Amino acid sequence: MNPDARIYVTGHRGMVGSAIVRRLKAGGYTNIITRTHAELDLIDQRAVHDFLAEQKPDYIFIAAAKVGGIQANNLYRADFLYQNLLIESNLIHGAHLAGVQRLMFLGSSCIYPRDCPQPIREDYLLTGPLEPTNEPYAIAKIAGIKLAESYNRQHGRQYISAMPTNLYGPNDNYDLANSHVLPALLRKAHEARLRGDAEYVVWGTGTPMREFLYVDDLADACVHLMQTGYDGPLVNIGTGTDVTIRELAETVMDIVGFQGRIVFDTSKPDGTPRKLLDVSRLADLGWRARTPLREGIRLAYEAAPFQAARG
Ligand code: GDP
Repeated sequence: MNPDARIYVTGHRGMVGSAIVRRLKAGGYTNIITRTHAELDLIDQRAVHDFLAEQKPDYIFIAAAKVGGIQANNLYRADFLYQNLLIESNLIHGAHLAGVQRLMFLGSSCIYPRDCPQPIREDYLLTGPLEPTNEPYAIAKIAGIKLAESYNRQHGRQYISAMPTNLYGPNDNYDLANSHVLPALLRKAHEARLRGDAEYVVWGTGTPMREFLYVDDLADACVHLMQTGYDGPLVNIGTGTDVTIRELAETVMDIVGFQGRIVFDTSKPDGTPRKLLDVSRLADLGWRARTPLREGIRLAYEAAPFQAARG
């Protein structure tokens, strides 16, 4: 990527898109294109195709998506499937029509079969049934991967797909009902400490295992893949290590300074028992994660929006 290449980052107000923009700016890229949701609705095919035809970006990062935690995925199943199918179809087909040669499509590790061997290699895709709580989202993301691949096969494009593990960091969603586990635990522990509560509630049994990647590390990996000109198959992006939800909850308590105890609400779903990514393909491409989990959680906690209200 030349420093003056026209780079369109979709979803730039979200956690992933904003991290990619930060990383691009830090890397000296000067021609970054963004549009807010109000300026461009990615569900609107005509608007997206006209925009891409007019802007003719050299590169596109697809960080825009309808996302959420286990409960949101499970409750708003139609929204997750429909909106993600439209966003990715409009952008990928529109990119092709506008002559965009290189694009990166971002998904998530939930695309892999629920009970696949660990760590999860990229070639386990479509080898078994999905986790039911996020099946609609996963199906949409699998369709996006196949769409990108199909433009490469049929039209010689270089559209690559990257599948990050669970992400966290600045600009995360801290809404307790719809967020992912790490922002939810940070906020719950923080509020429990402020209120002087004796306990804080963690969903499920605490036994599922999850891998967490600091979003600035993800952005660095995405830009690395674009810069190296990689145009091969799907790439996992993760740290290569995971923790139980109980361990995560304890680390969060420690960082936040909450000294009560954990209560597990087993009426809430556990979801996939484990989803640790195999990151050897990425390592072969010369990249590995840098931010240790504890340090990343501390950074995320400092940047959390509820900190402003602490007084
Ligand atoms: P997942 O990785 O797609 O399952 O998404 P989440 O990040 O939402 O959940 C990961 C795990 O954390 C699941 O086993 C949840 O039950 C567990 N968990 C524990 N407490 C919470 C919470 O307060 N919010 C969320 N979203 N998950 C929680």
